Amino acid sequence: MEKKLINESNKYLMSTYNRYPIVLRKGRGTRVWGADGKEYLDFIAGIAVNCLGHCHPRIVIAIQKQAQRLLHVSNLYHIEPQIELAKLLVENSFADRAFFCNSGAEAVEGAIKLARKYANDHAYHDKYEIITAYGSFHGRTMGALSATGQEKLQKGFEPLVPGFKHVPFNDIKALEGSITKNTCAVMLEPVQGEGGIRIPSPDYLKQVRELCDRNNILLILDEIQTGIGRTGKLFAYEHFDINPDIMTLAKGLGGGIAIGAILASESVAASFQPGTHASTFGGNPLACSAAITTIEILLEDGFHLANCEHLGKYFLQKLNKLQKEFPSIIVEARGVGLMIGLELTKTGGSIVEKSASRGMLINCTSGNVLRFTPPLIILEKEIDRLIDVLEDIFEREPH
Ligand SMILES: *Cc1c(COP(=O)(O)O)cnc(C)c1O
Repeated sequence: MEKKLINESNKYLMSTYNRYPIVLRKGRGTRVWGADGKEYLDFIAGIAVNCLGHCHPRIVIAIQKQAQRLLHVSNLYHIEPQIELAKLLVENSFADRAFFCNSGAEAVEGAIKLARKYANDHAYHDKYEIITAYGSFHGRTMGALSATGQEKLQKGFEPLVPGFKHVPFNDIKALEGSITKNTCAVMLEPVQGEGGIRIPSPDYLKQVRELCDRNNILLILDEIQTGIGRTGKLFAYEHFDINPDIMTLAKGLGGGIAIGAILASESVAASFQPGTHASTFGGNPLACSAAITTIEILLEDGFHLANCEHLGKYFLQKLNKLQKEFPSIIVEARGVGLMIGLELTKTGGSIVEKSASRGMLINCTSGNVLRFTPPLIILEKEIDRLIDVLEDIFEREPH
């Protein structure tokens, strides 16, 4: 039956994804089950989406309750769960105001618009250019794709949206050299996700912040992957002792439900006035109720953030041990919290497939970096199980 589903998937859906031959049907906590009943430990979690695991009972109940009360109304009216979520995010971040949308790319589009509008409102000359990093990933819509510093993703979709410039990540001199009077913002991921879990040096973002301040340009942090507890803090910028002017969120925000957000300081948010930006489904009651519950659970006793930090270190320590064991296959293990990469000396696709056949869902990004973004509720013994499987797989690889 799984075979039939896969055949129909390949027949009726556009071939945008290179999917593994697995149909996932059910999930609970850190585990998911295929249509054939096979059980998997999920170290991907929807690519950093299911931060509290699959079907967290409190998120399920929140959605059920909200579904019985109100699914959708227009942003022509005030929406209770949206107000509550905005307040929760503002009270727990640098920001003063929030705007809600439905995905990461949509949040990035809105952030680009907000930065340009702010510059337009405050500058006399053309200030529209946004500098981003090579290896970055900001989404697949035209603006977000143009911002993304990866030519291979842009190929065939030209002409791109003008006004984006790319510089090497973690290179403050290159960034400084690329700023002109036309620059309105710098947009960065605090830790590059799709780019292969690239962590900047400790003082890089602080230097970026200072550079932005000196040149009167905005700092946008794309925390779509790093946000919502993934790195052991609610937002990754907290590790670097800085505040952005604008931040984008999505992925983990709804604990498994589609929602995106743009957060901004008061003075920047003021550039979005009635009629400048909108989203029909943005901030709908259902998605907001899931996000409220997700953030409440993450914050209520600090357990999940502490677990993320502690187990992230444990995980990394185990991966470092593997690296010492297999130096000809593994270049390096790196990560912050439970956003972890294992860079290989070769492409990682076959390792991912072998792991899946042994009940471990992992992912490979940037060609040769195995990526682990498990739910923040993962257990030490579950990490041990993955490490055992990886060790066994590497053992059988030519090295
Ligand atoms: C996933 C991701 C996006 C795009 O999010 P979508 O919801 O897929 O549009 C943008 N930026 C970063 C950093 C991401 O990880």
